[in-house]
Formats: sequence, structure tokens, C-alpha cells
Amino acid sequence: MLNDTLLMIPGPTPVDRRILEKMARPTVAHGDKGFVEDYKEVIHDLKEMFHVDGEAFVVAGSGTLAMEMGVANILKPGDPVLVVSHGFFGDRYTAICESKGYEVDTMKAEWGNIVEVNDIKQKLKEKTYKALIVTHVDTSTGVVAPVKEIAHMVRNFEDTLFLVDGVCASAGIEENMSDGIDVIITGSQKAFGMPPGLAIVLASQAALNRRKKLGEIPDYYVDFARWQPIMENPAKYFATPPVNLLWALQEALTIIKEEGLDARLERHTKTGQAMQAAFEALGFKVLAEEGHRAPTLSCLAYMEGIDDVAFRAKLEEEGVMSAGGLAGYAGRSFRLGHMGNIGIHDMVAVIAALERSLASFGQEDALGKGVAALQKAYIEA
Ligand code: PMP
Repeated sequence: MLNDTLLMIPGPTPVDRRILEKMARPTVAHGDKGFVEDYKEVIHDLKEMFHVDGEAFVVAGSGTLAMEMGVANILKPGDPVLVVSHGFFGDRYTAICESKGYEVDTMKAEWGNIVEVNDIKQKLKEKTYKALIVTHVDTSTGVVAPVKEIAHMVRNFEDTLFLVDGVCASAGIEENMSDGIDVIITGSQKAFGMPPGLAIVLASQAALNRRKKLGEIPDYYVDFARWQPIMENPAKYFATPPVNLLWALQEALTIIKEEGLDARLERHTKTGQAMQAAFEALGFKVLAEEGHRAPTLSCLAYMEGIDDVAFRAKLEEEGVMSAGGLAGYAGRSFRLGHMGNIGIHDMVAVIAALERSLASFGQEDALGKGVAALQKAYIEA
């Protein structure tokens, strides 16, 4: 619509009108019969979509709460845990684990690259870790980890549970728990295409068994043991659920079912390829190495002579909201999300706005170049 700003930060992503309208319904009691059925449907659909043989937990909170909930239920202070970090959010997981008193080892890659699966395997052979944590897509670098391959590898390590941070991937990149993932933690505001506010934690039977073995844990709100009866029967009460946000998730899942999960994942692959072809045609450097580029977002380094703050302000004036680079990339790069419920019209609009912004910085020859590359890659993908 006229003068609408496209929300192209790596989450929250644009929210479909159907989701907004569903959320706008008058709030009902959390014990309302209709709502209880809606909550049940959400839990059922999540379990089906991610092949969960244990439990799906949906509670009020952001992705960071989901991160805490994930580890608090499978580890106790003193437990050895291995974190594979591909950037800012991997490092956040290390910080969370340290704050909880786990014995943390962290493997890091150069920003833009990945830690090789074989190196992770080697590390797991050297020491018995109670859990391995990998961020599926690190939103600071735009790097995607080979989660399926890692999951298959970890299966050979009986005592090690595999936890995936899917905040910037779930519902946009394949995550199938039957591959050997024990916990997926995620949030609502990225590839699900919903507003922020829901923490989603998917736990395998093995993860639930680990929770039982831990006995009393020091955490209260994020304890699986307190939430599991509610997820099994949402008519029960533990803490007030965010009624309208659960409706939003119900609608987001309906949209996913209508599109078909496989088609949705393919669309994300195609979107990533087309957007990245356009970024490169315009002269931006995609910071993730080829072969490790996320379909959900890109971290883009500026060409010589472009000031970050001025460029992003211009881009916003042209109708596209972007995000700045994080940590070591701050000031040298910016980030654009391309996930969730966005289509070709949005993609063309974003690339065209980038071209107009570059033109205002003296690069008139950018006009048309990115859109041409986008369309070509989109048709060919
Ligand atoms: N993990 C990843 C990969 C993320 O991208 C983010 C948020 N950008 C988080 C965790 C934390 O989520 P939140 O900001 O919703 O707490």
C-alpha cells in the first residue's frame, strides 16, 4: 500500500493481514472452550510439522527465553556442554550456559564460515558432552549450519543431546526432529511470519527423559515439568497464555499448511538465491561464504565510500527498513531478512529501493541491474 514501509529486518518480518485480523479478535478467557481447542490445534500442528515425538511447548516470551528454556531442562550446573558458534547468537548461547553454571566449551568459526562437522565429531570423541548446541542460522552472519548432517553424526554419541537454535530458520529451512534433533528452540517473529512474543520449544522424548532425570531444577517459569500438563490439556492453568498471539500462531500455521511445508522451504531457497544474486549484481559482498549462505537473511558488506547510517536512512526513505551489522560487522555491513510470508512483489520492491538508494550515492548505473539479476535468478531457480 502507498507509503507502507517494508519490514525487511531479520525479524520481525512482515505480518500477513490474515494473522493481524485473527489477532484482533476480542480476547477471551484462557479457559474458553474454543480457545482451548485452538491451543490444542497449535500444539498438534507444531508436533506434526517438526516430527516431534515428545512435546511442543509454546509460552509467552522472546527467542532468548526459548534459549533458556531449552537448556534449563536438559542440563544441570557442572554439566559439560559444547556450543558451536557461528556468530553473535552462538556467543549468546555460550553466555547463557555460563550464567547457568554449565561447563562450557565453545567452537568458533571465522565469521562467514562454519565449523566443520568432522571437527565437531572429533571434539565429541575427546569428551562426553551432555549436550551439543548449534545455531541453525546465525542472524549476525547469515551463515547456515548443516544441521541435518550434524544430527546424523550426533546420533552416534548416546549421552549427547542435540539442541538447535532455530530462531532464524524454523518454518523457512528444513528442521526434522526425526533426523536426530532433541530440542529445537525458536521464536514467532521470523520465518513463521508472526509478530514477536512467542517462545517455542520442541522437545524429543529423549529430552523429556533427561528432564525427568534432572529432578528438581532451579528454574520455575521455563520448567517443562510445569508446562507439560498444560500442553497436553490447555484447559489447565500454570501461567496465563498470550491468547491473541496463540491465535496468530494458529493462523500462521494454517498459512503454512495451505502453502505446503515442502513448497514453503523450496520458496525460501529460491528467494535466498534470487536475492543474493541481486545483492552481488549491485556490488554488495554477501558475508557468508558460498555454500553456507542462509536462505532466510543476508549480511551485506558495503562497497567503498558508502556510509552505513546515511545509506540505511536513505533506504528507509525509499520504503525499506533494514538492520545494521552486529559486533565486528557493525558500520561495515547491513542486514536484510528475506523470510516468512514475503513474495516476488516484495523482493522486486526491496531490490528496486536498494537501486534508488545507491543511485542517490552517485551510482546511477545501479538502476535496473539488481532487478534484472533478481528476475533472472528467480526464473531460473
Ligand atoms: N537466536 C537467534 C538465531 C536469533 O536471531 C535471535 C534474535 N535475533 C535470538 C536467538 C534471540 O531472540 P529474541 O531477540 O526474540 O530474544
